[in-house]
Amino acid sequence: MQTKILLDEDEMPRRWYNIQADLSAPLDPPLNPKTGAPATPGDLASIFPMELIRQEMARERFIDIPEEVIEILRLWRPSPLYRARRLEQFLGTPARIYYKYEGGSPAGSHKPNTAVPQAYYNRDEGIERIATETGAGQWGSAIAFATSHFDMDCTVYMVRASYDQKPYRKMMMQVWGAECHSSPTTLTACGRSVLEKDPQTSGSLGIAISEAVEDAATHSNTNYALGSVLNHVCLHQTIIGLEAREQLASVDEYPDVVVACVGGGSNFGGIAFPFAGDKLTGKVPDVDIVGVEPAACPTLTKGLYAYDYGDEAGLTPILKMFTLGHDFVPPAIHAGGLRYHGDSPLVSRLVRDGTARAVSVYQNDVFEAAQTFARTEGIIPAPEAAHAIRTTIDIALECRKTGEAKTILFNNTGHGHFDLAAYDAYYAGRLPDYDYPDALIRDALSRLPKVG
Ligand SMILES: *Cc1c(COP(=O)(O)O)cnc(C)c1O
Repeated sequence: MQTKILLDEDEMPRRWYNIQADLSAPLDPPLNPKTGAPATPGDLASIFPMELIRQEMARERFIDIPEEVIEILRLWRPSPLYRARRLEQFLGTPARIYYKYEGGSPAGSHKPNTAVPQAYYNRDEGIERIATETGAGQWGSAIAFATSHFDMDCTVYMVRASYDQKPYRKMMMQVWGAECHSSPTTLTACGRSVLEKDPQTSGSLGIAISEAVEDAATHSNTNYALGSVLNHVCLHQTIIGLEAREQLASVDEYPDVVVACVGGGSNFGGIAFPFAGDKLTGKVPDVDIVGVEPAACPTLTKGLYAYDYGDEAGLTPILKMFTLGHDFVPPAIHAGGLRYHGDSPLVSRLVRDGTARAVSVYQNDVFEAAQTFARTEGIIPAPEAAHAIRTTIDIALECRKTGEAKTILFNNTGHGHFDLAAYDAYYAGRLPDYDYPDALIRDALSRLPKVG
């Protein structure tokens, strides 16, 4: 009985899957935040390379992965598919549990899958530096790794609270040659104005995004890069699901259920879109696709499907997505990567149409599942990944009751080696379990941009 199902390097997918080809109707277009009119490629050209703008709007079903990108992805891809037999035994479930492990990348998560092609296309179009933001540091370290392979400079605006409390990812960025600043900085007009009003601010992702976008827009050799949410990011992540489908086929399996956590939606899209495509085209009509979010930031389960800004300041294009309102500030739960007010427009669309569904979970239950996983399968998961583990365990326990032998596939997006303080907090006593008050959600939703 195999534990790891592996592909050879030359079996790695050579094309990404673009689910836009298989939607029943095209996505609603992103809107220019100043005019409210559909955003044109020209609107985006000051901060993104043309090829990524093209991919953002592309309708063809497959997009070739450049050879130079494949060469770098080979450092850790194809990633292993594990059969979680010890977890199954511990749960006493007839379900068969498989997971993709993305923690073996140099940065320790799935994020390098898109950081590498993003750096490549920017360098290909003559860009010399990437400016970006990072919250807890997962994206910042992924893009620092990627730019180092293309001899590019990299400037990361890291939310001050994380910069002070979580120094290790900042150090990783430095090892890979990136400059990491505590945001807000005095380097941008936006940062200076925040600091003038509140010198002690702990910063926010919204402020850090505004700083990075301003940096990119005001330097002609510099572009901006985003680690989630956008269509091209989800596209690059589909390599996860394409590999998983091949790996499962090699042991005569196809999942009944696909589970992934949802922050901005990129790892969910990555593992789920190839299966969602099979569902949309009628090849496999009944696969159950489940996104898992924190109850403290319940974008898909309690948000509204509407046009909203991607950032707090309202600088980014307006996207049609599930949102809790752009000035919604979720409580400080330990899964920092899942604290986003909005969601990928593609993932939102699948949930709106019923192709995928969403559930929310509490963080104590998440850490309990993480501990069970670590003690059975060995890997200590990132708190974000543990959301998918929680729901996988819940489905497997349901199978124990019903006797159904479902095949469950989930995405283990990364290891938790830099999140051990969060585990420590869990062991030190019960963590707060937040149910975000409906009244506050209604309040934040009352400030959506007026469009159409
Ligand atoms: C960033 C991150 C996530 C959430 O981001 P998505 O874009 O929703 O995938 C999940 N897991 C890990 C380990 C992350 O770093």
